[in-house]
Amino acid sequence: MKKNIILNSIIMVIILSISITVLSLYNLRSSGIKSSIHNALSISEVVKSGLTSHMVNGNMDKVDTFMQSVSNLKNIDKLWLVRSDLVNNQFGHIRNKPKDEIDKKVIQTGKMSYTIDESITKSTVRVTIPYNAVADKGINCLNCHNVQQGATLGAVSLVMDISTLKEIGIESLYIISVIILITIIFFLLYSKKVISPYFKLYELFKINMSQATLGKFEEVNPPVGLAKEMVQITQDYNQLLQTFKETAGDIDKKLQGFIGYKISNIDRNPLKESKEIIDNLSNLYQFKKQVELDSCLSEIYNRLAQMLENKFNQKNFTFVEIDMVKQKMTKLVQRGDSFYCEKAMSENPQFCRCARTKTDVASIDFHNSCQYFKNDEKFYYCININVARNKFLIIHFTCNTKKELEELKDKIIFIKNYLTETAPAIEVKLLMSALKDSAFRDGLTGLYNRKFLDEHSKKLIPQIKRKESNIGVLMLDMDHFKAVNDEYGHDIGDKVLKELAAILEETVRESDLVIRYGGEEFIVLLVDVQTEEDALNVARKIAQRVRENEISVYAGNKLKKTVSIGLSMFPKDSNVLDTVIKNADIALYEAKSTGRDRVVRFTEEQVSSIDLF
Ligand code: GH3
Ligand code: MG
Ligand code: MG
Repeated sequence: MKKNIILNSIIMVIILSISITVLSLYNLRSSGIKSSIHNALSISEVVKSGLTSHMVNGNMDKVDTFMQSVSNLKNIDKLWLVRSDLVNNQFGHIRNKPKDEIDKKVIQTGKMSYTIDESITKSTVRVTIPYNAVADKGINCLNCHNVQQGATLGAVSLVMDISTLKEIGIESLYIISVIILITIIFFLLYSKKVISPYFKLYELFKINMSQATLGKFEEVNPPVGLAKEMVQITQDYNQLLQTFKETAGDIDKKLQGFIGYKISNIDRNPLKESKEIIDNLSNLYQFKKQVELDSCLSEIYNRLAQMLENKFNQKNFTFVEIDMVKQKMTKLVQRGDSFYCEKAMSENPQFCRCARTKTDVASIDFHNSCQYFKNDEKFYYCININVARNKFLIIHFTCNTKKELEELKDKIIFIKNYLTETAPAIEVKLLMSALKDSAFRDGLTGLYNRKFLDEHSKKLIPQIKRKESNIGVLMLDMDHFKAVNDEYGHDIGDKVLKELAAILEETVRESDLVIRYGGEEFIVLLVDVQTEEDALNVARKIAQRVRENEISVYAGNKLKKTVSIGLSMFPKDSNVLDTVIKNADIALYEAKSTGRDRVVRFTEEQVSSIDLF
């Protein structure tokens, strides 16, 4: 910048000086030429007058001497006289013929002419003036010449040396160059002393501001030689920068506290980072608001998944819920190729390292940290969020390259912020669903209760009707259960009921419903059973398993129990579920009355036999 300004200024001074010099030289030359022409004209006029005098006085023989004496004057190179044809013709002899075209032209036109001849070594001006015939009282040319008044009798030509003009020009050029040189030297000295500190300050400001945009706020030290006002401006700037530095640092520190981590990079830019953190916090806040408005867990999980896809650019991940008490692992969401937890789910959720250690598990240092990730070409990162008591949400990410894994590692802290904000909403939803679930479950056995059957059947029956499918309804009652209570006490009685519930759940399909209907009465809905024979087989299997089951009572004693089961088919027996249940109960009554420990299919006759009592 400094160099540019000085260079430009010098160039400007030189251009200006050259322009002035050229203009001055031109003016000098024009005025010199004009004055030379004027001189030449004057001399020519003198020569003309001299000639006239010689002619009038009859001294024409002295003309050459006169011409010679004029030629000897300083700066006069040549002087000659030419006659026109008019004069030559009158006097009969040809003398002083025109020397060149200029002479001829002047004689022909009767008008004065001048030319300038310039060469490197010499400059001359040539003036040719006509000698025109006059006829006034003093001199009357017509007395001697047979011509008309105004006719051109001849011409006087004069060549004058004007080289001195050139010398004056060169001298002026020399003087102007010296003046320019002195001006430039003075300008350089001046700029060094007076302007230089301003240039230095400008450079310092430039560096300082570019540093400030990177978040580095340093003071500017004003260079020596500045005006007082400029020093004051620099100090004010420093003060402003200091305040800015403190405020930006303070905001940044507080914001880092908000997001719960410290950025340790020394080259950090607090302004840029503060903006990023505020953007993140704002997004996080918006996300949290949306999650709180979500109606169910699946909506929350889908929102989380979308956020990972769109904001964090993740393609392959799985959400797994682990219940450490129930030892249950459930897959909630899967995106892309990312399901490596299947084996852990089928074996034991406790084996999931991420859930067990409650730390991040990743293939960064040890690829085999997770024993279930069996792909040597890919990488993984698992994080763990405690969503409720003994319940964890594991998010497993699969990365195709090491670079992807490194990029994910840098994002994990931000992803966790989102998860931490989402966890309370998940917990609330889990509690609500547990609460809802508990209203529909029996406290002793954990099976669904009668209330659930009433609620669920409202949805189930239309589905079955639409599919034209069947439900096998089993009504079960433990045989002589009262005797267990009486003999072993209620605790053993409860144990027997729990074991029966477990046998029922294990024997039927997951889609079937097992309900504790009353004290020791159970209903099993065999949903979508194909034939009543299939239903009878399930019932028989239950009876068999109960019969074989040994219940430990006390001191190593074992107890065996049996059940009686009544079966009725929906919609074959009735297309009203309540009637089918009643029918199953009638069949159960039939099983009891015909000896217990058996399965009885409902028939219409059983109704009439009950009516008899
Ligand atoms: P059977 O059905 O073979 O005719 O004989 P039973 O002895 O099972 O007869 P009953 O149906 O009259 O007996 C039901 C008994 O089950 C009565 C009640 O005390 C007992 N009971 C009901 N609910 C519970 C419970 O939650 N726990 C325990 N321990 N006993 C229960
Ligand atoms: Mg009973
Ligand atoms: Mg009973």
